[in-house]
Amino acid sequence: MKKKKNIFIIGSGFSSLSAACYLAKEGNNVTVFEKNNSLGGRARQFKEDGFTFDMGPSWYWMPGVFEKFFSDFGKKVSDYYKLKKLNPAYRVIFGKNSFVDIADNPEKICEEFEKIELGSGKKLKNYLKIAEENYKLGVEDMLYKMPGKSPFELVSLKTIKKIGFFLSNIKKDVRKDFKDPRLRSILEFPVLFLGAKASNTPSFYNFMNFADFGLGTFQSENGFYDLVEAMVELGKSLGVKYLTNQSVNKIIVQNKKVEKLLVNEKEFICDILISGADYNHTESLLEEKHRQYKPNYWKRKVFAPSSLLFYVGFNKKLKNVKHHNLIFDTDFEMHASEIYENPIWPTDPLFYANFTSKTNPKTAPNGYENGFFLIPIAINLSDTDEIRKKYFDFIIRKMELYTGQKLKNSIVYKKSFCVNDFKKEYNSYGGNAYGLANTLMQTAFLRPKIKSKLVKNLYFCGQLTVPGPGVPPAVVSGELVAGLINKN
Ligand SMILES: Cc1cc2nc3c(=O)[nH]c(=O)nc-3n(C[C@H](O)[C@H](O)[C@H](O)COP(=O)(O)OP(=O)(O)OC[C@H]3O[C@@H](n4cnc5c(N)ncnc54)[C@H](O)[C@@H]3O)c2cc1C
Repeated sequence: MKKKKNIFIIGSGFSSLSAACYLAKEGNNVTVFEKNNSLGGRARQFKEDGFTFDMGPSWYWMPGVFEKFFSDFGKKVSDYYKLKKLNPAYRVIFGKNSFVDIADNPEKICEEFEKIELGSGKKLKNYLKIAEENYKLGVEDMLYKMPGKSPFELVSLKTIKKIGFFLSNIKKDVRKDFKDPRLRSILEFPVLFLGAKASNTPSFYNFMNFADFGLGTFQSENGFYDLVEAMVELGKSLGVKYLTNQSVNKIIVQNKKVEKLLVNEKEFICDILISGADYNHTESLLEEKHRQYKPNYWKRKVFAPSSLLFYVGFNKKLKNVKHHNLIFDTDFEMHASEIYENPIWPTDPLFYANFTSKTNPKTAPNGYENGFFLIPIAINLSDTDEIRKKYFDFIIRKMELYTGQKLKNSIVYKKSFCVNDFKKEYNSYGGNAYGLANTLMQTAFLRPKIKSKLVKNLYFCGQLTVPGPGVPPAVVSGELVAGLINKN
């Protein structure tokens, strides 16, 4: 009979929650240590003054990944929460009285494209056919078989045929087929989830366009946090222990093995340690000689953006907005270069506005609306109250102008979150929001490893390792690390 192992997991983000379930299912004693007072990592939720806010993710994409996760435990998503497909999936606002609503199926979206640019409907249909093939290969087939140990994981007859997709990029492909700047920005939007510019993202990732148009955008009954609660409920039923307000301060290594952890200055002896906290932070808890990656390694990496976030309560219902709204009133080029090449506070940023109370009325008091606004920004920017205020005024001004209503005097709740909070609350490198970008040179085996090369029983999961940023990859990451541990 296999001996039960004491497995500790640092952090309670989706990758940790997923790993915990898979390892507990194998009969191990699993304990999750979370430094904050609630579970979910960057996907925590808070409630204040009658408003409920998901703090991080809001786009529920790739529902199949979550269905597969629960089915591995003999469960279904619907055993835990109700999902609704949004229609329109989202609204893209280009200016005053100028917007495109993205419908809930590809045929209608093709028709909408055709209205904007003659011939683009047919081109989109072909583009989505290839994106769907890449989704089937990349997500349904390869993703679960790639713990990132060796380049050979990528090699198969099917992937060899796709080599061209790794040599070109999304921006080139989109611009070849579509001329209208609105269509281009709509098609380039999904790669933002991968954390890099479209020009720096291999064409293979066009499977995100299939995830967007082909599969659609979903919303669960009480917001994204339903998924956190469901995974925790499942974990508890398998015996996982979840401890909050438990900050891991030190990892103590003996004979190249993690021997114990210091958690809030108390010692815990373990057999295996997994960290779903930011990679660089985890290694900083080790003595220097046990760290695989030196400061220069991290400096050279392309990090996904940080974000300036606002959680806002309005004392009225807002008109002319949908659940998800992208304010794409200017070309992303300048904003992108101010994130990646020349990191400064953006001159004229694009932003995202979300109103969950449009779909889930319970997330705001009766007759009120809750708003979540996000501006992607470079990591490590100087973050002050004055700057936050400047951008908040900018957002409200633009929302008033583009949606034709007064908003400023209807604000009854406001909280912001930015670089300093990401660092303080999540020990995030540079205050990154979404981990390490999925560029060509940071894909699969080229990402930080899920198993330490220097400490035998130390593993990593989450958005800085494989497969990459986003909730579905985080859930897969937990499965990959658990699979590797079970195999070893
Ligand atoms: C604002 C925002 C919007 C997003 N939008 C979307 C979206 O719409 N759709 C989507 O799919 N993805 C989205 N993402 C990305 C997605 O949320 C993340 O990729 C995913 O949740 C990361 O999960 P993770 O497992 O890597 O861990 P994280 O969520 O990063 O969790 C790590 C945990 O480790 C804890 N920790 C750190 N140090 C210690 C320590 N020393 N001791 C104990 N605990 C520690 C932290 O407190 C944290 O809880 C968004 C992210 C953000 C921030």
